Amino acid sequence: MNEKELWEAVLAQIQLQISQANFTTWFKGTRIIAKKENEVLISTPNTFVKEWLEQKYKHLIFKIISGFEPKIKEIKFLIGKQNLKPSFWQEREEQKQQLEFEQLKVDSETNLNPRYTFKNFVVGSFNELAFAASQAVIKNPGVLYNPLFIYGGVGLGKTHLLEATGNEIVKLYPKKKVKYVPAERFIREVVEGIKNQKIEDFKLKYQKVDVLIIDDVQFLAGKEKTQEEFFHLFNSLYQKNKQIILSSDRPPKIIPSLTERLRSRFEGGMIGDISLPDFETRVAILKVKAQEKNVEFSEEVYNFIAQSFKRNIRDLEGALNRLIVYYKLNNKVPDLSITKKLLKKVILGANQWTTPNKIISTVAEFYDLTQKDLLSSSRKKEITKPRQIAMYLLKTELKSSYLSIARKLGGKDHSTVIYACEKIAKQLEKDKKLEEEIELIKQRIYSG
Ligand code: ADP
Ligand code: MG
Repeated sequence: MNEKELWEAVLAQIQLQISQANFTTWFKGTRIIAKKENEVLISTPNTFVKEWLEQKYKHLIFKIISGFEPKIKEIKFLIGKQNLKPSFWQEREEQKQQLEFEQLKVDSETNLNPRYTFKNFVVGSFNELAFAASQAVIKNPGVLYNPLFIYGGVGLGKTHLLEATGNEIVKLYPKKKVKYVPAERFIREVVEGIKNQKIEDFKLKYQKVDVLIIDDVQFLAGKEKTQEEFFHLFNSLYQKNKQIILSSDRPPKIIPSLTERLRSRFEGGMIGDISLPDFETRVAILKVKAQEKNVEFSEEVYNFIAQSFKRNIRDLEGALNRLIVYYKLNNKVPDLSITKKLLKKVILGANQWTTPNKIISTVAEFYDLTQKDLLSSSRKKEITKPRQIAMYLLKTELKSSYLSIARKLGGKDHSTVIYACEKIAKQLEKDKKLEEEIELIKQRIYSG
């Protein structure tokens, strides 16, 4: 091996053992400039990196290098001129630029991102209702299903579906004015409008729209002024047969602090849910994504990823991207054992691991309560139900003891906990809505 080959082989190994962020920070711009009989000289871009590598990574680097070339007994670092850039860093940068470029291509009029289409959208039983509804809307905007309300957990394709619908409408009806806004931005515009006395401009702008798409409307919870503005806008667009498309992480019924009149508008059209994709669909999604990037992995690799990430398409994609970066850096498609190594940390982070505090804070947030409310001894129904659900989840997800749950929840009696867990379990047998509600909470607990 010459210097360049040796260093690339070493980097490939190191990459498997440390995080991507550390890898980029400490190894970018390094190279072997000389290899003597029993000594290797490694060039670093600056003092900081040099010292860091000496202190933290020398041992690791030495171990790997001597694995390749046992003769080598010593490694030294120095600060070098950066005249030579190994090809793979260049590639990395190109990749990065490409990514950023892709993300930047959002259309300034519609605010739609062209990356979201139906060509790269996999349909399965988990999302077919939502998909079918979107197709009906595309055929006849403003006529059939108004509003179209799509809901589902984090990372399951709501934004993709909404944006693809918008893109398709623009394509089929170039004259129609489509506008996509995340609810958070909509809220910000209302607040700014009021502050700067420009609320009339804001209204005018949205009145002109033929298709209004608002993503993540659960964020309207508790935003009274925005809800009021939106209610009027909704009515006026609706009367003119303009299409409204909304998404949320939960059905309208359980969005907290939403005015009744807005809730009933949300429920007045078509509601389509997106649930969790099954194993086969997850594999299909992986294949589509890999194909998009011109890489192909073995069946066992696809299966392994699909088994490891069950709750979230975004995680599925993140895992795949990790493998693709590895492939690009090493020019080698990772096999199952490398895949397992590359994904080990991510899987631990993404799967089935939570804490009591995470459960309590997620339940509180889901029902728009403070943790203090949840832990209080209030008997109000708005509080007792979430509290019982928190107890139930502590039991089922963490297998906590009744006594420890009682303590966690502000020193309740442990028989109260037993009662709550049994009650929720019983209710779950016949109440589909509750089942769904708890599933949505679980998705949030495990999605970061
Ligand atoms: P959400 O808005 O529900 O949180 P996103 O729409 O952002 O989820 O989806 C997360 C990622 O998964 C995106 O990169 C998206 O392209 C991808 N994705 C979601 N659903 C599908 C699908 N049915 N087919 C292919 N890719 C999908
Ligand atoms: Mg989204």
